[in-house]
Amino acid sequence: MRYRSGRHFLQLPGPTPVPDRILRAMNRALIDHRGPEFAELGRRVLKGVRPVFKTESPVLIFPSSGSGAWEAALQNTLSPGDRVLSIDQGFFAGKWAEVGRRLGLEVLEIETDWRRPVDPSAVEGALSADSGGTAAAVLVVHNETSTGVTSDIGAIRAAIDRCGHPALLMVDAVSSLGATDYRHDEWGVDVTVSGSQKGLMLPPGLGFTAVSGKALDAHERARLPRAYWDWSDMLRFNEEGFFPYTPATGLLYGLEEALAMLREEGLDRVFARHARFAEATRRAVAAWGLENYSIDPGAHSNSGTTVLMPRGAGADELRREILERFDMSLGTGLGRLKGSVFRIGHLGDLNELTLAGALCGVEMGLAAAGVPHTKGGVDAAMEFLVAVSAAAPTPADGS
Ligand code: PLP
Repeated sequence: MRYRSGRHFLQLPGPTPVPDRILRAMNRALIDHRGPEFAELGRRVLKGVRPVFKTESPVLIFPSSGSGAWEAALQNTLSPGDRVLSIDQGFFAGKWAEVGRRLGLEVLEIETDWRRPVDPSAVEGALSADSGGTAAAVLVVHNETSTGVTSDIGAIRAAIDRCGHPALLMVDAVSSLGATDYRHDEWGVDVTVSGSQKGLMLPPGLGFTAVSGKALDAHERARLPRAYWDWSDMLRFNEEGFFPYTPATGLLYGLEEALAMLREEGLDRVFARHARFAEATRRAVAAWGLENYSIDPGAHSNSGTTVLMPRGAGADELRREILERFDMSLGTGLGRLKGSVFRIGHLGDLNELTLAGALCGVEMGLAAAGVPHTKGGVDAAMEFLVAVSAAAPTPADGS
């Protein structure tokens, strides 16, 4: 393949570009994963990752993608034939439900409008109807990456509590962690699943699981077979900073650097930055005369915007044109949205200029591909970014 000058723009809602600092931190000789230096690294990252989930409880780190942590969550807390409630809120919610079915669980899916956040009263209704308390878990995706819709986990917890139902609350925070405020403890989440390749700015390869005391109790009783994903083995080894098998040592060095970067910027600033960039993107989309797939203004994603194509225009043709001409990757439509949407990722390590460049690429691509639109989306985004940059505190303020 011929060399392409400049940086490739990886504007997916994950994986996201890996910052140079993290690449350098990972570029190290391997160490003995059963030796004292590793134990210290292990202890540091296992402790250091907890504040990102806002939890005091253990966070397990599997050498896996997010899907591995999904599977681990179910295997470690449930038994064959257990019923779980899943919300049909998008492509990834559906995939997690499918993992449950393949593990021999009875999955009840609640139909919802993919364009809106999960309605807590729908969860309440389903659980109230389950008077025998037979549903063992409720599975929810915090930020559905396929639709660009974020749901209110605290409100869903409150709905479960209102009906006094004992089901575990399991949340997929794969594409929200590190981009949107997430509160594992305060929201009473029992199992939170995430991955390394999105808000944490790392390559794919680490699957995270934060667990509550109630989830650990359920783990004691759970009878689904488990081996690689067994939380007990992991927790026992983690006490000394080790793993039950060969860990992803290089990625753990990267994780330590990512955690330092998040601490230096400050989580609240990280979330505010993501919110600003998401808003700038939406303004560009509106100015182009295109439609955001997410329609509830309170639920638009900070991580990615899913854009509906005008009737008759192909999303993947547009993505191909942009990749070939301007060396930028945008997210494809997933599942039932294939072909009718494209997704602009705006999470992870980016700044105003990266975002403006990405939006330029989209606007040039719309013109190049002959997609009907109005010019001026980039201008609208720039105007917004200039206005808010004056108000946004910088780390140099010391604020
Ligand atoms: N959940 C969500 C919300 C996702 O966006 C993804 C991947 O993009 C996954 C789960 C699956 O994670 P992985 O691809 O790391 O297995």
